[in-house]
Amino acid sequence: MNYSIALVPGDGIGPEVIAPATEVLDAVGDLYGHVFHYVELEAGGKAIDSWGEPLPRATLDAAKQCDALLLGAVGGPKWETLPGHLRPERALLGLRAGLGVFANLRPAALLPQLKDACPIKDEVLRASNPQGKPHFDLLIVRELTGGIYFGERGRENEGKSAFDTETYSWEEIERVLRIGYRAAGLRRKRLCVVDKANVLESSRLWREVASVVAQEYPEIETSYLYVDNCAMQLIRAPGQFDVILTSNLFGDILSDEASVLTGSIGMLPSASLSDFVPGHKGPMGMYEPIHGSAPDIAGKDLANPLGTILSVGMMLRYSFNLEQEAAAVEAAVQAVLDSGLRTKDILNRNALPGTEKLVGTKAMGEAVYTALLKA
Ligand code: NAD
Repeated sequence: MNYSIALVPGDGIGPEVIAPATEVLDAVGDLYGHVFHYVELEAGGKAIDSWGEPLPRATLDAAKQCDALLLGAVGGPKWETLPGHLRPERALLGLRAGLGVFANLRPAALLPQLKDACPIKDEVLRASNPQGKPHFDLLIVRELTGGIYFGERGRENEGKSAFDTETYSWEEIERVLRIGYRAAGLRRKRLCVVDKANVLESSRLWREVASVVAQEYPEIETSYLYVDNCAMQLIRAPGQFDVILTSNLFGDILSDEASVLTGSIGMLPSASLSDFVPGHKGPMGMYEPIHGSAPDIAGKDLANPLGTILSVGMMLRYSFNLEQEAAAVEAAVQAVLDSGLRTKDILNRNALPGTEKLVGTKAMGEAVYTALLKA
């Protein structure tokens, strides 16, 4: 089949991590008989330089015509002094809203090969893992286009007081819950709704909606947790979680917390969806690694491209319904890690001599490409 993919390499390390990811996609195409057609677009700092705005209309319009969007990262010191509405990161909000992608899926799994990069002790990890292994594998599903980041805000009292508003409608909560339940159905069939229902009225609505939607998914075990407890449980016993489903603000914070437990921000992919029905090709989805443009390492061949490559895996699974291809990309990443190749961010300085080899962005990408073709 043919697929069109909007490519937004962006700023900093963005183009460096996008290049190997498209090579891996091309290898998937060659192996499985698909054609991926790329439409390269500008957003973020690059778009500010050439168009005077972070998200030109032309970029959004062209992206909407594609089957999926793959983004590297946007932002950097060059644009930091611009007013808020002209900052590169505005492009992310504009793309999410413009593409209607309201559910953000962020897997956070501790891969066995990177176990030593996790700041949590082995025995703590083992205690919460159902098989007693020092690992965890969870998925955070975050509502992405509502809540306090989009609510009414302002200043009063001559600027001396400020307010932001958390507002959610039944429909907004229900639609993200459905995606969470469907994703849980593909995993270990457990979904934990995280809120602050002991204090916030909007959170009480989340529980109310969840209790209704849960009845449609009797095969999924639903539980509820307050966000402060969840933040603690993620450190205390991450192995207890399968899918965590939560609001925009809570999801933003919890997913960053979870990312630290996996060892490196460079390893983690994400998908932002407007729908997902297992077994069917999905509507336009947006895929990106969770890291930023990392200006400190940009242009040095130091960036870890695996988060972007795994984002491509999510694209194959969630937008194109190509499960076998997605699994092949994930297996190739595992094979490369098994072989001992490491970018600097995931190198274990205490590893036994000869077990790990430091490589750059390009070599890591090529290794995944080769592993995919060899499998
Ligand atoms: P960052 O994620 O860019 O970097 C944080 C740290 O992680 C840095 O030390 C960096 O070197 C390291 N790092 C990040 N990605 C890596 C990778 N793939 N491999 C190895 N190391 C990696 O976060 P930041 O420094 O807070 O932000 C830098 C810029 O990126 C800012 O302008 C910020 O607004 C922007 N940003 C963009 C996005 C996005 O485009 N989705 C997300 C977050 C931050």
